[in-house]
Amino acid sequence: MDAPRVLDDIPLAIDPDEVLRFQGYKAGVDVPTADVLALFDEALALGRALMRPRAVLRAFPVARDGDRLTAAGVTLTIPRVAERWGAIDEITAGVCTIGDALERRVSELWEARELPLAMMLDSVGSGAVESLAEYVNDQLCGEGIARGVKVTNRVSPGYGGWDVAEQRLLWRLCPGDALGVTINDACFMAPTKTITILVGAGAAARVDDYFSQCARCWMRDCAYRRAPAVRSVRRQ
Ligand code: SF4
Repeated sequence: MDAPRVLDDIPLAIDPDEVLRFQGYKAGVDVPTADVLALFDEALALGRALMRPRAVLRAFPVARDGDRLTAAGVTLTIPRVAERWGAIDEITAGVCTIGDALERRVSELWEARELPLAMMLDSVGSGAVESLAEYVNDQLCGEGIARGVKVTNRVSPGYGGWDVAEQRLLWRLCPGDALGVTINDACFMAPTKTITILVGAGAAARVDDYFSQCARCWMRDCAYRRAPAVRSVRRQ
């Protein structure tokens, strides 16, 4: 098992489609008005100044029995993981957060009744932490390729049928303490703009299960690219 490693100073680019998705817009279908776009630009500038994207990651050798993954004495049960990931030898558990300054500013804006900006800034935070999780997934994929190992898409407790209560098991593998992230008995994390992730890796791992993997990766000349680069989650 590796020691936890912290990624800091991440040059994150926020995918605007992620932000607008949290506002209820469907990419390529709904077209925001000029007013909405102006509000978006204001919230994005504010959000960029407030957020501190960081992640803590920890890798483990893993044994898989059907949809049960066991690492360091912790067994995770993830529906369909055998079919989706195939043969894996290791997993990386991680916690990604943008910190709490943005959500504190959202609360202040609510109290000041600046509701449109508060809601847009909250969506910027949600879009940012999704983009951050994507960034970390893509970075792990690039590192895996460099050592001849395929890295899967990310999954998180509470999504794709994975019981949210397993958040605590994931936390045992990789706690968020190094980032100042806490979790309570209801699996509620603080700061709220935090996502936990789990990826698998192995020479024969399946990596074609996730629609957006590669699409936002900045490694344009990657020989293993599976989808065209649409928009990078790394600042150029
Ligand atoms: S382009 Fe795709 S395969 Fe290559 S490093 Fe990025 S996510 Fe991985």
